[in-house]
Amino acid sequence: MDNERKTLDDRQKMTDLERIRHSCAHVMATAILRLWPDAQFAAGPPVENGFYYDVELSHRITPEDFGSIEAEMKKEIKANHTFEKITVTREQALRDAETGRLGALAERPGQPSKFKVGNLADIPEGEQITYFKNGDFLDLCAGPHVMRTGNIGAFKLTTVASAYYKGDEKNPQLQRIYGTAFKNKTEMEAYFAMVEEAKRRDHRKIGQEMGLFAMDAEYVGPGLPLWLPKGTAILEELEKLAKETEFAAGYVRVKTPHIAREKMYLTSGHLPVLYADSMFPPMELIEESLLKKEGGESIRADMKQLLQRAFDDVNKIPGVAEGLAEEGVTNASMVEDVLKIAERPRKVERYYLKAMNCPHHHRIFAAEPRSYRDLPLRLAEYGACYRYEQSGELFGLMRVRSLNMNDAHIYCTPEQFAQEFNAVNEMYLKYFKIFGIEKHVMRFSTHDPAKLGQKFVNEPALWIQTENMVRDVLKTSGINYMEVPNEAAFYGPKIDVQVWSVIGREFTLATNQVDFAVPARFGLTYRDKDNTDKTPLCIHRAPLGTHERFIGFLIEHYAGNFPLWLAPEQVRVLTIGEDAPLVACAKTIIADLRAKQVRAEGDFGSDKINGKIQRAEEAKVHTMLVIGPRDLEAGNVSVRVHGKGNLGAKPKAEVLAAILQSIAERQP
Ligand SMILES: [Zn+2]
Ligand SMILES: [Zn+2]
Repeated sequence: MDNERKTLDDRQKMTDLERIRHSCAHVMATAILRLWPDAQFAAGPPVENGFYYDVELSHRITPEDFGSIEAEMKKEIKANHTFEKITVTREQALRDAETGRLGALAERPGQPSKFKVGNLADIPEGEQITYFKNGDFLDLCAGPHVMRTGNIGAFKLTTVASAYYKGDEKNPQLQRIYGTAFKNKTEMEAYFAMVEEAKRRDHRKIGQEMGLFAMDAEYVGPGLPLWLPKGTAILEELEKLAKETEFAAGYVRVKTPHIAREKMYLTSGHLPVLYADSMFPPMELIEESLLKKEGGESIRADMKQLLQRAFDDVNKIPGVAEGLAEEGVTNASMVEDVLKIAERPRKVERYYLKAMNCPHHHRIFAAEPRSYRDLPLRLAEYGACYRYEQSGELFGLMRVRSLNMNDAHIYCTPEQFAQEFNAVNEMYLKYFKIFGIEKHVMRFSTHDPAKLGQKFVNEPALWIQTENMVRDVLKTSGINYMEVPNEAAFYGPKIDVQVWSVIGREFTLATNQVDFAVPARFGLTYRDKDNTDKTPLCIHRAPLGTHERFIGFLIEHYAGNFPLWLAPEQVRVLTIGEDAPLVACAKTIIADLRAKQVRAEGDFGSDKINGKIQRAEEAKVHTMLVIGPRDLEAGNVSVRVHGKGNLGAKPKAEVLAAILQSIAERQP
């Protein structure tokens, strides 16, 4: 939870929907005070999908109270009070907090608005202090709100939780009441329908039902998914798609180890500070002392003799022997102490699990001399990375600690940049089409010149140059994008690709980044036409994101009903009964399909065909081929497609050709 106070600038950026939701928090507070006048309110911001207001109240609010609170809220909305803005001095605000008037319907002598006093202290000196008043409810608030309570079209209280005042567990614990609000009832109903549908399509639930992946926190560790055979089938289809697409686009594949020495990440700048919290702790290689190794005995004996002699000589200096005796130290004990130090193992080297593939790819660039003729160089790898996400943040496949990334790094000259970047965007659009992703936006994050040298690498000219290049490409390509100032990565502008699943839920699947700083840190150069060495630009791109997140998204997107090319079990051949000629025919079909790399299985038992069909439907098998005696005679198979039902009997050869074509074309 973000407990940082929003600046007035941030507040003005609130969207219309956020204004409605935050205004609804005021209305909810008004309603709660009508029911429980002793309520003490703290903070009530809009949040993703709604709003909350923190309240201290002797009555424990439960969902059973929501009906009566909502009834009071409706009255306040019907009254259509204006949100009246009042500017006051800090002294006035303190006086009003003292009389209990803030976050209240009237003065409450003896019950100061204690949390508002604390909120007031957070307002920087010199910043305007404002109240907002709707009806009797007066609150300390910087806004913004909608014009009138009647502008809140539809609302609903959702949950109640507990939270500490200002997020600090040393502060009192408050009740946090969540709700949501929309422009109108239709939009709200659509939202709750989407939430219900998302629950039905939960990737953790479907992933388990279909046997796609397993989590084994006890033996493998939290956030480290095991890909079961059916999930691996999907994963490998995605990898095949990426390999074919990238090969056609002129990429070359590389393979890198999962670990690297500390020097790698000190050079990239991820260590010692920037990324340290997101990396697994290092592995330290420790070397035994020479004295402990084979043959160490004789070295030890020689050292002991030498030390003995040296200490004996020192002891001959007048006064030394007496001094040592006073401290209780003898020559023999000093010799043993020195030997103990020499026997200690020593740390030799630190290795880290890689949290990103870029540094390894940079070293591949550096492995050979490069000339302008080698550029653009597009290095691709489905790279395994490990990130130390906090255990509280882990969530199914969406937040994991091991990830397989559809990664590539494109090294190019500034002249090549536009074309390369455009080709990356084209690749995205191609993928969106294959997966039926209709709504998408590229969030283009740029730097803030005021924060150069702190949040952003101090290269003012390069920032402007690369941002202009990216902006030009986005504009001319006609791709749907929005620009977000001040959110670039440290090393260059970044593009987060947001997509919406078929039920309208938003996912951030991938990030593109332009990097004009790290290649220089690694000393990467190419020999240009004019015979000078220059540093290449680097584009990081991962259109299919990570297998984990992308498959998590696809499970929801398809509700587990994958298209034929992606389905873990593509075809199941079912026999009506278990007569030998039927089974033999079915086995031939399966063998033919498997020879063409189709994931085909069979079900030849003696049980009824309806039971076999039901089992296949439950397993979300894409295509069922049913063979009965009549089909056998006619050289036919009866085709059933999951979710589409019976498509009738067709000639066997025709059906098999259609299956192969659908897979080859990756039909939706
Ligand atoms: Zn407000
Ligand atoms: Zn990268």
